[in-house]
Amino acid sequence: RLPIVAIVGRPNVGKSTLFNRLVGKRLALVDDRPGVTRDRREGDAELLGLDFRIVDTAGFEDEDPDTLPGRMRQQTQAAVSGADVALFMIDSRAGILPLDEEIARWLRSGDTPVIVLANKAEGKAGEAGVNEAFALGFAEPVPFSAEHGEGIVDLFEALRPHI
Ligand code: GDP
Ligand code: MG
Repeated sequence: RLPIVAIVGRPNVGKSTLFNRLVGKRLALVDDRPGVTRDRREGDAELLGLDFRIVDTAGFEDEDPDTLPGRMRQQTQAAVSGADVALFMIDSRAGILPLDEEIARWLRSGDTPVIVLANKAEGKAGEAGVNEAFALGFAEPVPFSAEHGEGIVDLFEALRPHI
């Protein structure tokens, strides 16, 4: 079976943009509205010769399993538990928000290896956010731009030991 990589992060950080870039088709909906990915999407991805299955997760807002956000969160947690490695994406321009810290706490309590991907890091605007991401308590964040395709080689190097 192909190794599984799950992308996790709060709404609007660029998860679906990365998913689309790696799968090479517009399978995931990219939208400015937070939380627009309503279900879990999977595809076969390729990155500089690494082949893996990638999962674009939905939400992490609500713990109540009887609400739509709650079900999205359960799906996200199931996807991460079943993955060989999680790409924890943050928005370098927005910096670290409370929901990022909540997701980080949850990821630290599990046993799926985590790579912090500091997205939207193109240009100078992301530098502060990349630095803030160190404080999340994982290995060195990978500065990245899903939209501009920057950081691909660093992502490859970070993924390779896990797949
Ligand atoms: P998701 O909610 O995490 O799946 O985020 P989306 O992939 O839907 O992207 C949310 C917004 O961020 C969209 O407007 C994207 O165009 C934008 N975006 C994604 N990646 C980047 C990036 O690398 N740089 C910048 N500046 N914007 C990005
Ligand atoms: Mg999305």
